[in-house]
Order: sequence, then C-alpha cells, then structure tokens
Amino acid sequence: MPYNRPLPTAAPLNVISHDPLTTMPSITTDLDRCVQQLRSGNLLAMPTETVYGLAADARNGEAVAKVFQLKQRPDSNPLIVHLADASQASNWASHIPAQAQVLMDACWPGPLTLVLPARDDVLRSVTAGQDSVALRVPAHPVARALLQAFGDGLVAPSANRYMSISPTSAAHVARQFAESALLILDGGACQVGLESSIVSLLPGDSPRLLRHGMLGQARLEQILGQALENRPGSVRAPGQCRRHYAPGTPTSSFSELPRPQLDDPDCGWIWCGQAHPSRGPAVDLSGDPERYAAGLYAALYQLDALALRHIHIQLPPQSAAWAAVHERLSRACEPAAPY
Ligand code: AMP
Ligand code: MG
Repeated sequence: MPYNRPLPTAAPLNVISHDPLTTMPSITTDLDRCVQQLRSGNLLAMPTETVYGLAADARNGEAVAKVFQLKQRPDSNPLIVHLADASQASNWASHIPAQAQVLMDACWPGPLTLVLPARDDVLRSVTAGQDSVALRVPAHPVARALLQAFGDGLVAPSANRYMSISPTSAAHVARQFAESALLILDGGACQVGLESSIVSLLPGDSPRLLRHGMLGQARLEQILGQALENRPGSVRAPGQCRRHYAPGTPTSSFSELPRPQLDDPDCGWIWCGQAHPSRGPAVDLSGDPERYAAGLYAALYQLDALALRHIHIQLPPQSAAWAAVHERLSRACEPAAPY
C-alpha cells in the first residue's frame, strides 16, 4: 500500500526541538577527555567503589552549581570532596585532629568520609554554608587515576536525581540522565555498592557516625579506640530525608512472607539468601552482607524497569553487619509523600 499520509503543513508551536545526538549521555574510557571536561567547568559521571558520582571541580562555583541543578538536589545538602590522597586533606580542612589521622591511615583509600573543620577558602556552596567539609579518598583505580590526573578535589555526590536509586554502573547513570549530554567515565560495576560511611570529627564535639556504610561502626570504633555517637548532635547532617534511594515502583520489605503475592506475575522479589519460587521476577542477593550490598541498587534498577505492580524485599537479619543495608532499605521503602 502506498504511503500517502499528508505532509504536515506547519510544526505545532509547542514542539521542542530535540536533537538526540547532542542530548544523549555518552560513555567513555578516555581519561584525558574526562580531565578536560572537568577543567573546562563541566560535569562528569565517575566510578567509585561505593557508587557512581556526579563529579565537578570543587574549586569552581559554577561547576558546583551545575551538580545541584542536574541532580535537582537542595542546596542545603552539602557535597563530599574527593581527593587523590590523604596529603591533600590539609588543602581543605583547617585542622586535622589526631583521630582523623588515625582513620585516614587505616581506611583511605576506601569507603569512609570524614567531616572536618573547613578552611575559609572552601566554597560554601560545597559545604552548604557550614564551616565543616566532608572529605574522602576513593579506592576505585579509575577514580584514583582521574583524581591524580585532575590534581585537586572533586565533588561527586551520587550520579542520580535527588532521592532516586544510586547508580552502580555506567548504564544506570545513563538511564538516570537519559536526556542530558552527560559524559560518563566507565569503570565497571561498583564493588562496595552502598554510599560511604560518614564520621564527623569536629572540635568541641564527640566523634559521630553520620551515615552507616559497609565500613561498619564496630570496625571504625576499633580503629579509633573510642565509641562513636550515632545521633547527629549539633552537626547539621542533611541528605538524611526519609524517602531516598527509592525506585518508582511501590516497594516494601517483609520479614513475614506475603505468600499470596508469590502467585502474582506483577510482583518482583529481592531475596536475602532464602528465595521462594515466585511467578514474578526475582533476584537473590544472597545472605552475605558484602555481596548483598554490591548488588542491591542494580537489583532495584532491574526490577524498577519492568513496570511491576510491587517490589517485595526480604529483610536481612537484624545484626550489625547489615546496618548500612537496613538503613538504605528503610528509605527505599518509604511511601512517596502525598502532594
Ligand atoms: P552524598 O550525597 O553521598 O555525596 O553524601 C553527602 C552527605 O554527606 C550529605 O548529605 C551529608 O549527610 C554529609 N555531609 C557532607 N558534607 C557535610 C558537612 N560539611 N557536614 C555534615 N555532613 C556533611
Ligand atoms: Mg546520593
């Protein structure tokens, strides 16, 4: 049959021109290109061992503003400055307490962020107006190579829109920012898979664990030889809102198996080593906390893409090794606030 649809006479006025070649993310392994991108004040998604970060030059206010804008993150939520090695910490912190040095020596490079008193020249958009700065030396070899080549600090909050699932692969980042021309440095799948543990060590305050990570509280206390407080105290630790890391699909966790749902093909399942046969898609993340953490966000991305009615997550055991996982699950399962 001949194709005889009439040609449109004029484009409707409300059509926005959309050039797919300039508005798609691109994934690269070209380190020089990535360093150039950062030096010219642009954003770059970079791998770390925890999650992928949305990186920008931490000394460039305009570049930092682009991070908040693209993520749609409130500017009251401070950013972590990522460094190539611990010797750069004194370029950002006005004072490095002895306890901070102990933790740096034992845990850097690695998934630990330290909140320390900030030097006056640190951008207050990075610290959300506070006189403290959060620092981390990531362990991922590609992150380290990038930071070394760049030569200074990079802010790098998770490369996702505010409150959605943190990305643990270049493909997750591309999915989050499908309509932006973001450059993504590919470093494979993140090995740790959950955001860093955050410890604050501020003058006149007790050492505090502001965020649980896979470097657990007991291990940190053992290294410090001192207990960590768990409440934020006088430290302003935003980024702790109840709904976070959340898929678009309604998600809940269970300790008591909702048996009837096993027959529902539109229910997805995340198991913690004790999978039951289900009609809907399922991922067994295993009963090992490290393996579970490394796979959690990828499982949420995978199931969220299937347009399911519900995602059910089997709760892991209530032990210290699972503290960081429990904390992420409780936020992923929070119902969306009514508008
Ligand atoms: P992320 O979103 O993973 O980059 O982590 C940023 C989080 O680190 C923030 O939401 C805060 O909880 C914490 N943080 C960063 N900078 C500071 C700071 N100066 N003081 C207290 N907490 C901070
Ligand atoms: Mg985040």
